[in-house]
Amino acid sequence: MDLRNGFDIKRYIRTIPDYPKPGIMFRDITTLLANPHGFRACVDELLWPFLEDRVDYVIGIEARGFILGGAVAHELGRGFVPIRKKGKLPWKVIGREYKLEYGVDRVEIHADAIKKGDRILMIDDLIATGGTADAAVSLIQESGGEIVSAAFVVDLPSLGGAAKLRDAGIKVHTLVEFEGD
Ligand code: AMP
Repeated sequence: MDLRNGFDIKRYIRTIPDYPKPGIMFRDITTLLANPHGFRACVDELLWPFLEDRVDYVIGIEARGFILGGAVAHELGRGFVPIRKKGKLPWKVIGREYKLEYGVDRVEIHADAIKKGDRILMIDDLIATGGTADAAVSLIQESGGEIVSAAFVVDLPSLGGAAKLRDAGIKVHTLVEFEGD
C-alpha cells in the first residue's frame, strides 16, 4: 500500500538544531514543499487512505497545516476549514488553550464552520507532544464534527502525541518518523 514509488520524502525535510530554542530539533518541511515531487508525494500520501471514506471538510491547523490541508481539500474536491491561532478569525469562535513543545498557545475555529455529523479529515505538518492536535480535536468534537482521521507528514514518536491521539480513539496517519525530538 505504499504509493511513494521510491520517493524518499524524509530526505527532503531539513533539520535545524536548536530552533526556535536550544534543544529543539526543528523539522523544516519548507524544503520538502519546495520540491515539486516532494510536495505532490506528500499530498498524495496524506490523502490516499481516505479516498473511499466520506469526508465533508478538510481542516488544517495554522500555519503549515494550511498549505497541506488546502492541497488535500482541493484534491479530494472538498471544502477547507482553518483552525487558527488566537485572535485571527474574524467571526464568532470557539477556542482551546494547549501546551506546545516550546510554549503555550490557543487555537480557534469559527463557531459555525462545521455542523453536527460533519466528517473531518484533520491535517498538520507534524505531531510532537500532540498538544496542538488534541486541542484541534476538541474544537472539532465540540462543534459536533466526527474525525475520520488526523494526518501528519512527520511524527516524533518519542514525544508520544500520535499514541495519545490513538489512545483517545482517533485514527492517526503519518508519513515519516524522526527518532528523538
Ligand atoms: P505538538 O503540539 O507538541 O504536537 O506540536 C506540533 C506543532 O508544533 C505542529 O504544528 C508543528 O508545526 C510544531 N512543532 C512542534 N515541534 C516541532 C519540531 N520539532 N519541528 C517542527 N515543528 C514542530
